Amino acid sequence: MSDTKKYTLFLISPRQRFLNYPAHTELAKMFGKRRLMIPLALPTIAALTPDHYDIRIYDEEIEPLPGNARPDLVGITTLAATAKRAFALGDKYRALGSKVIFGGPYASFMQVEALKHGDCVIAGEAEGKWEQALADFEQGCLKPVYQSETYVPYHSQKPPRWDLVNMHRIFQVAIQVSRGCPFNCDFCLVSKNFGRKMRYRDIDNVVEEIRAAPSKYFFFVDDNLTINKNYAKELMRAIIPLKISWGCMCSLDVATDGELLNLMAEAGCFNILVGFESLNPASLDESQKHHNRGGSIYAEAIQKIHTAGIHINASFVVGFDHDTLDEFDRIFDFTMKHNLPNVNLHLLNAPPGTETHRKFNEEGRLLSCDPELGVGHFPTLHYMNMSQIAIFDKYMETIARLYSFETIRKKGEALLSNGAFTRPGGDISTLMKARLSWITFREFVLTRDPDRRKLFRFIMNLISTKRIAIDKGLGFLLSMLGYHRHIREHQRHMAEYRKIVMDQDKGAWKRE
Ligand code: SF4
Repeated sequence: MSDTKKYTLFLISPRQRFLNYPAHTELAKMFGKRRLMIPLALPTIAALTPDHYDIRIYDEEIEPLPGNARPDLVGITTLAATAKRAFALGDKYRALGSKVIFGGPYASFMQVEALKHGDCVIAGEAEGKWEQALADFEQGCLKPVYQSETYVPYHSQKPPRWDLVNMHRIFQVAIQVSRGCPFNCDFCLVSKNFGRKMRYRDIDNVVEEIRAAPSKYFFFVDDNLTINKNYAKELMRAIIPLKISWGCMCSLDVATDGELLNLMAEAGCFNILVGFESLNPASLDESQKHHNRGGSIYAEAIQKIHTAGIHINASFVVGFDHDTLDEFDRIFDFTMKHNLPNVNLHLLNAPPGTETHRKFNEEGRLLSCDPELGVGHFPTLHYMNMSQIAIFDKYMETIARLYSFETIRKKGEALLSNGAFTRPGGDISTLMKARLSWITFREFVLTRDPDRRKLFRFIMNLISTKRIAIDKGLGFLLSMLGYHRHIREHQRHMAEYRKIVMDQDKGAWKRE
């Protein structure tokens, strides 16, 4: 019999006080889930942990923590938006006698603050450092900081421990095949965390992970899945036989390679998130995102992606020094012109560790607000040309316009009528089909809103004439409904939100 001591370990993703609409939680609820997916860090760290740990994974967005448990060790992943809750949990578990280790981007760059609430910070990539910290913990000599000095080899990794996650509460699983980014945009942490040299996993190792996963729905969290087109094509050919459905992030230049685009569609890609970031060339230059200045190719690239039957999730940021409130209208008009119904709009934020944070800090322009406000819809910076309340009001007005059913209907009619979205997207149970059909009927037929009813009739006509796959048609309606509901929820909280913003409003920033 082994005499190795057993330890209990909680791995926690703290809940966020504020969730913005791109989290798509309302869509998850329609599927009977709590959120689309949980952070990949938790099951990945669990896979690095030796067998003599009894591990529990808790994402507070999907289930509560047990009230009275006192684990030996607690690992908490942190973002700016969850830091306050993370630190409160750190205080709680330390008071109970547990040791607390923080990881994730916020704690990595705010170590002094994190160590007031925990015993240790693992900064940067966890592989190697996590195992070292556990060994020291067992010896009673846990160090305050384990800083990764080099980037770890990344050819293969153990499959994440999805067996420890309550899969009934989430819709899809996250997967990562590469690390790094050759670019260095001011507002982004990717190249700082993972380096500018790309590292890729062996395709066999990725396929093994997909085969073992408890879901057929995936999201590739790589910041640009197709930056190496040869690797991407090899990956696509390997996953076509697996018959999965997935989304990813990549740049619009994917459209310059028709073979790759077709392979992606065949491999089950239904959505790509494209970081346009700004339509203002001066703002792209200001943030070192020069490589995005592809205005002239946008129309053709968007068209090609749509023709391949793949949706685009267009992501934009407003708040750069060269921006004015007019940027919001420019983004709205652009998404109308190019038939982009899925739009992720954010206010510029400055997470610790980014160049944007350094610059705004140096200029005294970081608002002294709670980091939990950094979720995209609250101003957290002293912007150059816009007061905090002005940018907030215009943001809220714009997302309401973007997701009004009049806008959705117009974009949907223009986008879907070309008959490109005919490839079925995945299997769902009969019970789920019945549930989703009822929601669709209730929301789009039993309504007085003429745009909803018109959109429903339009989609039904496409389905009956086989110009759209049934799941793609219903999926479009439900996805748009999810966004719309979340924004309506924001509107219900407008008085509270505006008070938060007014309390910190300093007017537009002026250079002295
Ligand atoms: S925003 Fe995109 S392109 Fe820029 S550094 Fe981050 S991951 Fe790379």
